[in-house]
Amino acid sequence: MKKPVIGVTASHDTEHDKLFINSVYLRAIRSAGGIPMIFPLEVTEDDLRDLVASTDGVLFTGGDDIHPFFYGEETNAKCGNVSQPRDSMEMALVPIVMEFGKPIFGICRGIQVLNTAMGGTLYQDIPSQFQSELSIAHRQPFAYKVPSHTVDVTPGTLLSRILGEENASIAVNSMHHQAIKDVAPGLEVCGCAPDKMIEAVYAPDYPFLLGVQWHPEHLTASQPDAAKLFAAFVDACR
Ligand code: MN
Repeated sequence: MKKPVIGVTASHDTEHDKLFINSVYLRAIRSAGGIPMIFPLEVTEDDLRDLVASTDGVLFTGGDDIHPFFYGEETNAKCGNVSQPRDSMEMALVPIVMEFGKPIFGICRGIQVLNTAMGGTLYQDIPSQFQSELSIAHRQPFAYKVPSHTVDVTPGTLLSRILGEENASIAVNSMHHQAIKDVAPGLEVCGCAPDKMIEAVYAPDYPFLLGVQWHPEHLTASQPDAAKLFAAFVDACR
């Protein structure tokens, strides 16, 4: 069987103007049976269309904060660094992949990119803007490969189907500064942390679109749940 080619977005080191990617993303795709292909930032919309046409699905990876202008807000004093080239490329990429109807998986910043591109909003700084009686760390104080909070999986959703309906709660890692505030039209929540933080969304009317706020690429070795997400995504790309 031909292996699906998965387009992957890279991080942008704005200080040195360098693209980089954590290899764990690429290994997780390979382990699930796909071939990763990193997308550049130096592209026109027509170039992006050609790139998407030659891939079987796209993974939106983690990274810096998203410029608040993309969801109609002024910059909060506690917003983090942004890359305008990366933001612009990814905001253009989302609707193009959707034109093609190809599978989409968003991780951490990726779920935020999907929500923003589809018309939702974000918390620019969770500690100062997200209120909860529970004090759950969304920037965990230990390594990515160690889970730190749980996610309640909404029954009857894409996430629930992937994990198995008996998996009502899963343990995930958490390393995010921003998160979904208002969910975009076309997306539905399929997983929340115990403090009601939105941790997973999907598009019920789209062939395969899943966003997760955690980092399953760091958990695939220790947690079958995390590997199932990559397997489901790559299988949808076949
Ligand atoms: Mn979290």
